[in-house]
Amino acid sequence: MSEWAWFDAELDTGLQLGLKVTKRIYEEETGQQKLVIFESAGFGRVMALDGIIQITERDEFIYSEMMAHVPILAHGTAGEVMIIGGGDGAVLEEVLKHASVRHVTLVEIDPHVVELCREYLPSVSRGAFDDPRSELIFADGAKFVRETDRRADLVIVDSTDPIGPGTDLFSAEFYAGCHRCLKPSGILVTQNGVPFLQGRELQESCRHLRRSFRDVTCYTASVPTYNGGPMAFGWACDDPAKRNPAVGTLADGYRASGIDTDYYSPAIHVAAFSLPNYIARLTG
Ligand code: SAM
Repeated sequence: MSEWAWFDAELDTGLQLGLKVTKRIYEEETGQQKLVIFESAGFGRVMALDGIIQITERDEFIYSEMMAHVPILAHGTAGEVMIIGGGDGAVLEEVLKHASVRHVTLVEIDPHVVELCREYLPSVSRGAFDDPRSELIFADGAKFVRETDRRADLVIVDSTDPIGPGTDLFSAEFYAGCHRCLKPSGILVTQNGVPFLQGRELQESCRHLRRSFRDVTCYTASVPTYNGGPMAFGWACDDPAKRNPAVGTLADGYRASGIDTDYYSPAIHVAAFSLPNYIARLTG
């Protein structure tokens, strides 16, 4: 990348997102995927994997807050959390904001992602990897959930899209593995793309999830650099009541947690599950 070049991310959906590059910082074939980190003109530092933007300093708060606080506050008493993927540490940092969380197991397939995000994108993990409650395991998440004897209140799948090593994290077998890792009334949430462009992905995920979970849907948030409309967070739980907590209950939990957020609020939490028809149809 030359100075002032553009980084064009395309999800082979016919829609491209260009970010103006002001400084190339790092580029490597990690053996798992192609990793790029650069300084952008309007979104701070950016990390991309296999040509797809994973995180930008400027808008990651939207995604990581919604990935973490929705399931934690919906569950109410989550102490054990499992994150599959999440090598940049952004979701880990949000989860650890909750003093009620006793332990987080983060299972990341590519050690280079953690190492390079710690070095070049410290602002997104803010020391989360060094929190005594964090446990980092470098492994394939699909294999891990099949074999581990650990159990969690939440499984958060902060994965890449279903390409390369991320492919297996969208399968029925993987979701069955997540189900076995969850304690009763445990909640699974997933990164499930932008339905306007990747509707089939969401539809498939919901179909696969229904083979293991009673209550399956998604909730949404709009993340500027996940372009093409609101993005979907898959939701799966055997306790339908977890999906509809009263906003007052959420507000009590939010206040008690003492966390500070820039996107998440109890009202946004409830509203996020109200889906436009074209997305609701995909989850049905
Ligand atoms: N926020 C991003 C998004 O919405 O696309 C995802 C962030 S995070 C960088 C995605 C992580 O998933 C990457 O670090 C990647 O290495 C990891 N990953 C992909 N496939 C995996 C697998 N099978 N097991 C564990 N981690 C995996």
